[in-house]
Amino acid sequence: MEYEGVVYRPPSEARSLILQVTIGCAHNSCTFCNMYKAKSFRIRTMEEIRADLDEVADSLYARMIRRVFLADGDALVLATDKLMEIISLIRERLPHIERITSYATAQDILRKTDEELKKLRAAGLEMVYLGAETGDDDLLKYINKGVTAAQIAEAGKKAKRCGMDVSVTLISGLGGRAHVREHALSCARLITEMNPAYCSFLTLRLYEGTPFYDDVVNGKFERITPDEIVDEMEIFLKNVDSPGTVFRSNHASNYVPLGGTFNEDIPALIEALEHAKKTKGYRRYREMGDLL
Ligand code: SF4
Repeated sequence: MEYEGVVYRPPSEARSLILQVTIGCAHNSCTFCNMYKAKSFRIRTMEEIRADLDEVADSLYARMIRRVFLADGDALVLATDKLMEIISLIRERLPHIERITSYATAQDILRKTDEELKKLRAAGLEMVYLGAETGDDDLLKYINKGVTAAQIAEAGKKAKRCGMDVSVTLISGLGGRAHVREHALSCARLITEMNPAYCSFLTLRLYEGTPFYDDVVNGKFERITPDEIVDEMEIFLKNVDSPGTVFRSNHASNYVPLGGTFNEDIPALIEALEHAKKTKGYRRYREMGDLL
């Protein structure tokens, strides 16, 4: 099975079969993101998808595959009929599959009716990964996310009421020095309103060639230090109220690896942050730490 270009998946899909049903991201305009810049968005044909599935199904590993992640950047942009056809083909060729997931933008979720989402869920699309990044409207505009915080919240709630698990991703440090508090509080509001199954934070990384990178180089955006990232996370944790949400901030980009369940683990999470700050026990920020 040959992938087209670089393929991305959430950390929790490390053991999943990654099946490209689209190439690139239909939005492809967030100013911090370079994941799909090298790709022109297109929808793969059923023949291409079938060929991939046939190859996997005929391999020795087929019986071991339990999870499928639909790539690339926002597979939910596909028409519901096409997604249903893909899911049914996956089930036919890989009968041991237990879970199917995909990335989804808020726009994708809002474009579908409740009935369509329920149909997809019933067919096996168990979870969508929703990149919210922040709950602050000014910041969402700044990063050209293409949606407001209210729309993201509505999308998350909609997917949830249609039976899907929602995994929301936010970005530590996205507010820069000027908006630490606003960013943290807005993230807490967003998660409180959506009460998703999962919530995770990555830490802001810079990629040369993106508008966001240029803003940092030109002094328009001031990055914050690890201590300030910890402060921002503490503000978030002290204000979020989302019982049952599984929280993770343990991506390679995070200075302090954290994990727990809201709300009961919040005091322990804050304690871990304070300990890391006191001892400067930060993980090295590999991709961009020494850049600027
Ligand atoms: S929607 Fe996601 S994949 Fe697409 S440009 Fe924005 S951050 Fe990147």
